[in-house]
Amino acid sequence: MARTHNLGYPRIGVRRELKFALESYWKGQSSLDALKELGAELRQRHWRDQAGLDLLPVGDFSFYDQVLDMSFTLGNLPERVRGLQGETLDNYFRVARGRSTQAAEAHTRCGCGIAAGEMTKWFDTNYHYIVPEFSSDTAFKLDASRLLDQLAEAKTQSVKLKPVIIGPVTYLALGKAKDGSNKLALLERLLPVYGELLETLAGQGVEWVQIDEPILVTELATDWQHAFNTAYHDLKASRIKLLLTTYFGTLQDNLQLACNLPIAGLHVDAVRGREEIINVVDWLPAHKVLSIGLIDGRNVWKTDLNATLDWLEPLATKLGERLWIAPSCSLLHVPMDLDSEAKLDADIRSWLAFATQKLAELSVLGKAINEGRDSVAEELAANKAAMESRQRSGRVHDPMVKEAVKNITSELGNRRSSYAERAAKQRAHLNLPLYPTTTIGSFPQTHDIRKTRLAFKRQEISADEYTARMKAEIERAVREQERLGLDVLVHGEAERNDMVEYFGEQLEGYVFSRFGWVQSYGSRCVKPPILFGDIRRPRAMTVEWTGYAQSLTDKPMKGMLTGPVTMLNWSFVRDDQPRRESCLQLALAMRQEVLDLEAAGVNLVQIDEAALREGLPLRKAQWRDYLNWAVESFRITANGVADETQIHTHMCYSEFNDIIEAIAAMDADVITIETSRSDMELLDAFDHFRYPNEIGPGVYDIHSPNIPSEQHMVELMRKAAERIPAERLWVNPDCGLKTRQWNEVIPALTNMVVAARRLRAMQ
Ligand code: GLN
Ligand code: ZN
Repeated sequence: MARTHNLGYPRIGVRRELKFALESYWKGQSSLDALKELGAELRQRHWRDQAGLDLLPVGDFSFYDQVLDMSFTLGNLPERVRGLQGETLDNYFRVARGRSTQAAEAHTRCGCGIAAGEMTKWFDTNYHYIVPEFSSDTAFKLDASRLLDQLAEAKTQSVKLKPVIIGPVTYLALGKAKDGSNKLALLERLLPVYGELLETLAGQGVEWVQIDEPILVTELATDWQHAFNTAYHDLKASRIKLLLTTYFGTLQDNLQLACNLPIAGLHVDAVRGREEIINVVDWLPAHKVLSIGLIDGRNVWKTDLNATLDWLEPLATKLGERLWIAPSCSLLHVPMDLDSEAKLDADIRSWLAFATQKLAELSVLGKAINEGRDSVAEELAANKAAMESRQRSGRVHDPMVKEAVKNITSELGNRRSSYAERAAKQRAHLNLPLYPTTTIGSFPQTHDIRKTRLAFKRQEISADEYTARMKAEIERAVREQERLGLDVLVHGEAERNDMVEYFGEQLEGYVFSRFGWVQSYGSRCVKPPILFGDIRRPRAMTVEWTGYAQSLTDKPMKGMLTGPVTMLNWSFVRDDQPRRESCLQLALAMRQEVLDLEAAGVNLVQIDEAALREGLPLRKAQWRDYLNWAVESFRITANGVADETQIHTHMCYSEFNDIIEAIAAMDADVITIETSRSDMELLDAFDHFRYPNEIGPGVYDIHSPNIPSEQHMVELMRKAAERIPAERLWVNPDCGLKTRQWNEVIPALTNMVVAARRLRAMQ
């Protein structure tokens, strides 16, 4: 008999109940007891959703973040919250959220200003965890209360339970030694606490524990590989059976290591690493359980159940009792329930599976393996029909689009002339001063703007009315920029709710769910668009707005687009063709928009690639391939224009050192990037690599309400000018201004313009 189990379930609630309860508690509008009660209710409901499986996760629920939960379980709290009085959960939120920087500053003297823990992305997902903090004298101390409470709850509901914890090696790998010490040296101190935790769970009658070690799918240095041996040889003393759990990729050179650790079972990701499973079967000693992750926990498509069974059945025969099946990873990374999407197009809906549907698929697979395919004949037939409908659908497949991608030549991504020749023509044509000033695109999204967009969406106002109001907003943004004395203007993006959604809604091949929320961090969720089919642009998307903006002023207007790589990386992407293919389709569609803007007299076009870095694969060995097609896609979008047209791009981060050559290969005339928070650290990249084109290192930190002084901005730019010639420098904020207020933006930009004038005067 194969067993079915789940690695983790979304916790935010089908109507985002947890989000709203957290926010209400944080605002002081509801009690801690109410929050705890809701937590218990969600856990109960979610176990009920999973009841059809043989083993359910316990401890995957979190009020904020599972890594922070683990830090609390291990007694690894940052110094700054140790010894604070009050409820554990309040301390927990203090580490998670801190106070705002301003509040923290105001409180430094009384000692209650608490900085938030650092947040970073969980492997290659869009989920952000709180980074564990270490130093050479970090000590650990078990606090199993959270797990014990949830175990007790699960028992009252007769849940067939399997506690979930993060393994010691991954826990250390995810953290940061604040004092620069070697965090691996802490393993020795950490292991007794894990040992104690496992004993405590055994004392509660727990048989299996899922111990997550996703770090095994990355390239590990020898000392980290050793750490796995040390850790699991130490933990084998426990009575507990450990299911060592890996996901998000293949094991490759860690495969033998993982198979040979003294554990009772191993979980592997067969969605991203199906070819490797056969090696795992060969290497895994015959007494160990093999859990195969068959259902994609990272995407929203139905599993092809028949094809999966064709592949799985021989393995099932071979493995017998030793086979477990599961989703590839925790379902935290997909939306909860497709049944909420009554308004979604019926065809497309029939191709999708969210968390609840994925578990139903898992049950069908389990039954087919254990009782034969006949026992689920109906489900398999329905699945087959859905698969065929998707494969054949004219909405998915557009022969003209496929043909266009096939016809892409390398010239398509090349500008007509070199940067130096273009720059000379652009200078003459645009007539810009030294240190030109500009912004990144959006201006404050006021309450009025949001209200208007919503009213239009609900059809409460007519299209004409909507257009008139948006044009008024554009005019306001243009006039303000003229008054401020900026050199290159933008239209302000009032009509855009989100930089991907805005374009996705106008392209064929995209749909949007209404409740497809996925946790990003804490109470924050995102609703990624679903890219289901070949991408086509039926008509121009931005020309009317940008053209209108240009008509209002003699200053150059910069058109504003989202790049193909960002469109891809912030969506759930179809899994029936390589991502590269979808990206090239997006590139061709966005290229049309660039050319239309140019034809409409827009001389500068910015193509935002905010998410280019996010798409980097977990293994460095795969970076080159990704960067090749990502850069190719950008170049196809951008480079069809005349020499006089200036292409800008923008990226929201400054860690460029390791990808600077790829960034340069995009060959944008100007790149604007975030740097002010890191004090121009980014410029270190330029020590080893001479960035050839123009660059605008952000001098105004838009994440903070603080108004940067002109002096500060001058200093930052002078630092930049030590590395990059002044003729190639721009002066601009770190990112778009949509989250700020006009009364913050105006003084900040006033200072920025003055700073640029002073810089020119210093030449
Ligand atoms: N043009 C966008 C804006 O200004 C860029 C946003 C981003 O890079 N995240 O809002
Ligand atoms: Zn940005």
